Amino acid sequence: MQTTQRVQHNFALEFAIDHANRLRLPVLVYHGLRHDYPWASDRIHSFVLETVVDLYRDFESRGIQYAFYLERTGDDAQARREAGKASPLVELARRAALVVTDFFPTFIVPRQIRALRAKVDTPVIAVDSCTVVPMKYFDREHASAAGFRPRLMAALPEFLLPFEMGEPKFRTVLEILFEPTRPAAESIPRLLASCDIDHSVPPARAIRGGTAAALRRLHHFVESGLARYADDRGDPNEDATSMLSPYLHFGNISPQEILLKAREAGPTDQFAKFQDELLTWREISYNFVYHNKRHRTVEAIPAWAREELRTGEGDPRPVLFSDKELELAQTGNELWDAAQRSYLVDGWMHNSLRMLWGKAVLQWTANAEEALRVLEHLNNKYSLDGRDPNSYGGILWIFGKFDRPFFRRPIYGTVRYQSLNSAEKKFDVAKYVRRHSAGPRERNLSAHVAGMFGHQGLKVRTDAAD
Ligand SMILES: Cc1cc2nc3c(=O)[nH]c(=O)nc-3n(C[C@H](O)[C@H](O)[C@H](O)COP(=O)(O)OP(=O)(O)OC[C@H]3O[C@@H](n4cnc5c(N)ncnc54)[C@H](O)[C@@H]3O)c2cc1C
Repeated sequence: MQTTQRVQHNFALEFAIDHANRLRLPVLVYHGLRHDYPWASDRIHSFVLETVVDLYRDFESRGIQYAFYLERTGDDAQARREAGKASPLVELARRAALVVTDFFPTFIVPRQIRALRAKVDTPVIAVDSCTVVPMKYFDREHASAAGFRPRLMAALPEFLLPFEMGEPKFRTVLEILFEPTRPAAESIPRLLASCDIDHSVPPARAIRGGTAAALRRLHHFVESGLARYADDRGDPNEDATSMLSPYLHFGNISPQEILLKAREAGPTDQFAKFQDELLTWREISYNFVYHNKRHRTVEAIPAWAREELRTGEGDPRPVLFSDKELELAQTGNELWDAAQRSYLVDGWMHNSLRMLWGKAVLQWTANAEEALRVLEHLNNKYSLDGRDPNSYGGILWIFGKFDRPFFRRPIYGTVRYQSLNSAEKKFDVAKYVRRHSAGPRERNLSAHVAGMFGHQGLKVRTDAAD
């Protein structure tokens, strides 16, 4: 188990159960968490550990053996190597008849799957549980939602179906050669402290991980947000969106389950808008990242927009902020700083703010490469839903991806501009700023942030990306 961290509606798990039954063997689910993935922090780790609490419970209720391994420091791996032992995953994979893993088209996942394949003779199969319409259904990258939407909607009846769960028939408990970790809510702070990760990014203020929390959030949305979604989703002061993106990112809940429950609850016109966001906009990002190996680079910006931004490099900037000023929400622009603080503290930002936040960075940095480097880092370090195909779809949209040319203006050329100053026309800016003002806790947090590239920071690679 890598990125589809759930027991229900999990195609990789169901594929494993079917094959295990055919081979007359039991299924064992191995789930490891390393300390050294990019942007590893208390925030991301705590979300996964909270998820693991649910996973133990949910796997037990389906009678499936699940073992979670927490690799805390580099010393763990070093000690293993000195003892001539392979990693728990490789040990298990070597003894298995078949390894089934979940597929994810970015971050460290494709590399991890290839690395495992190189180390074992056992067949390794990756199964896509990310999207409603499987990524490989589309044989090419789609440039616009207008072109992608009809093809996606045409495929929907084939794929948006109630889920049938299989029954594992062979339930022998297998011997595992490592000490699994079973977190509980009370032990998570101690486990975090034992890991060599960035402790300066604390757990998100109010968002907890796991399928139970995802289902609670879905219920809340269906009860109180969906009926006014299309009307109010643009206003960050209204709690009208689902806030399910962290749960979708960690695979705590499937997009199918969300859509089916929301469709049932209606009303039709509001649901249609929600479906368009969750299907068209989310899945075009997956389509982009799946087909475009350079999705972390400026090469993925459409040629017209790249050209416009290149021309705009010569235009004077209103101001250039340092990495640290941006990261610590110290630009002096109240709205931008409040938006950045919602990343720092809440680990989530409203979509309307993400757009303004990103567009502003374009004019406060020297060029598109710099802006992309900063946005990727801030988004992936602080946002629970970061490190996702949607991160790259959203961030590249700032640079013109999936968009069309608008009126020409300095710096942006014909790439769409959005002004922090005119946000007032769309929502109550003062209210948003008040809600995200820096209290003593936030000031304390800011003081603890080590700096832009203090710990395991990543530069955008310009050669290739996976
Ligand atoms: C600069 C920038 C960075 C972004 N970074 C991320 C990111 O790291 N991770 C991430 O999941 N999304 C990202 N987005 C897209 C979008 O802002 C979030 O998905 C959305 O705000 C999540 O809130 P929600 O769950 O309440 O959405 P809802 O409005 O409730 O929508 C439900 C789901 O539909 C999908 N969705 C909604 N709006 C969009 C959209 N505009 N584009 C793509 N999918 C959408 C999301 O999966 C979302 O959870 C980014 C957008 C921008 C402009």
